[in-house]
Amino acid sequence: MARRYAIRTFGCQMNVHDSERLAGLLEADGLEPTDDVGGADVVVLNTCCIRENADDKLYGALGHLKALKAARPGLQVVVGGCLAQKDRELVQRRAPHVDVVLGTHNVGAAVNLLRRAAVEGPVMEILEESDTFPSALPVRRDLAWSAWVTIQIGCDNACAFCIVPSVRGREISRSPEEVVTEVEALAAAGTVEVTLLGQNVNSYGRDLTRRRPLFAELLRRVGAVEGIRRVRYTSPHPKDLRPETIAAMAQTPSVCEHLHLPLQSGSDRTLAAMHRGYTAERYLARLAAARAAVPDLAVTTDLIVGFPGETDDDFERTLEVVAEAGYDSAYTFVFSPRPGTEAALRTDQVPGDVVAERFARLRVVVERSALARHQARVGREEEVVVEGPSKKDPAVLSGRTRQNKLVHFAAAEPLAAGTFARVRITAAAPHHLGGELVEVTDRPRHRVRIPVASA
Ligand code: SF4
Repeated sequence: MARRYAIRTFGCQMNVHDSERLAGLLEADGLEPTDDVGGADVVVLNTCCIRENADDKLYGALGHLKALKAARPGLQVVVGGCLAQKDRELVQRRAPHVDVVLGTHNVGAAVNLLRRAAVEGPVMEILEESDTFPSALPVRRDLAWSAWVTIQIGCDNACAFCIVPSVRGREISRSPEEVVTEVEALAAAGTVEVTLLGQNVNSYGRDLTRRRPLFAELLRRVGAVEGIRRVRYTSPHPKDLRPETIAAMAQTPSVCEHLHLPLQSGSDRTLAAMHRGYTAERYLARLAAARAAVPDLAVTTDLIVGFPGETDDDFERTLEVVAEAGYDSAYTFVFSPRPGTEAALRTDQVPGDVVAERFARLRVVVERSALARHQARVGREEEVVVEGPSKKDPAVLSGRTRQNKLVHFAAAEPLAAGTFARVRITAAAPHHLGGELVEVTDRPRHRVRIPVASA
């Protein structure tokens, strides 16, 4: 019987896509996937170091695996991702039962390191720079109809709260030709939706041209690939959102009407302390330009509550800007100092009870805005792509609109993931919409497995 592997991913879309690559590598080596960690021969924990609870999740999972490994010494445990890149020796020290520690720049070494560990015992290999652009590695795509496509790795910014630049390195853009070739291969295999991935997609290509970003052109080229019906991207940085990107969104029919534009704070004082490179006024002006150009644009954001030194006035300003922006949803985070960042060294941390109270108030404003925007959609017919049965009620289907809104809807027949349907919106809640099926408009095409992404 073939050896089996299980992967647990903690973190962002970058990690999710890295996990798809790790899966592709392991399958190319003859392993088969399993969801059952207890029955796996290789368990990979792909980590994230952006938020504190990612550490907790990792060390909690490693504690569980220690017991499993005691019962089955042949089990191999791999820790990869940002936390491994950053904490390397700490991971080995806290969890000596880990066989392989590998970083974000050498995902491609996973199989060789597993072989080495089987002979030599625990190994750690962390590179400070990428030896291969990860797109050259095998990929096992999690979804048949939707795919992540990395266009850039690393980040040239220096946000005071963020550890990403020190673990992911400088921005490196993949060539537009490579990106388009991969998207064409995906489309040929039946993928209808792609999400372009980078830490700051708006500056994509600046390192290639040494002049100006190429993101708007890339959006147009990817959007023109035959068979690709939805193009999404994440994440743009507000300071780099250029008019030509907004124009490309407006003029490329397959680019979805959704913009995730991380605000972080509405206070200019806090934004300056975070080194975000924009003011609230400039942010709102760019948002207004995007809304004016792209009809029915959904806007989502990220917000941090309790950044060091945040005063009541700073927070009130955040509430005002959030109300003015009228978000469709927001990821709200309590500031957590990440070792190695500038913000972690500050001595003016905001007391926990103050942060908790602000956080609750912010959630009220965000949810009020989200509910109002969702209520405005009731009665409309929306195109959704089916994702599968709802997690809460398997008799109900879930799908996404072009605005990336989750819709739960009843249907008389089961519909495969990837089916396009028209749904009448009948109910609104802050985090989702409810609806009923009007008609199926397109069935998913036969899926051809893509063993290797284009290099
Ligand atoms: S733009 Fe800022 S928050 Fe985003 S990855 Fe770069 S440093 Fe981190």
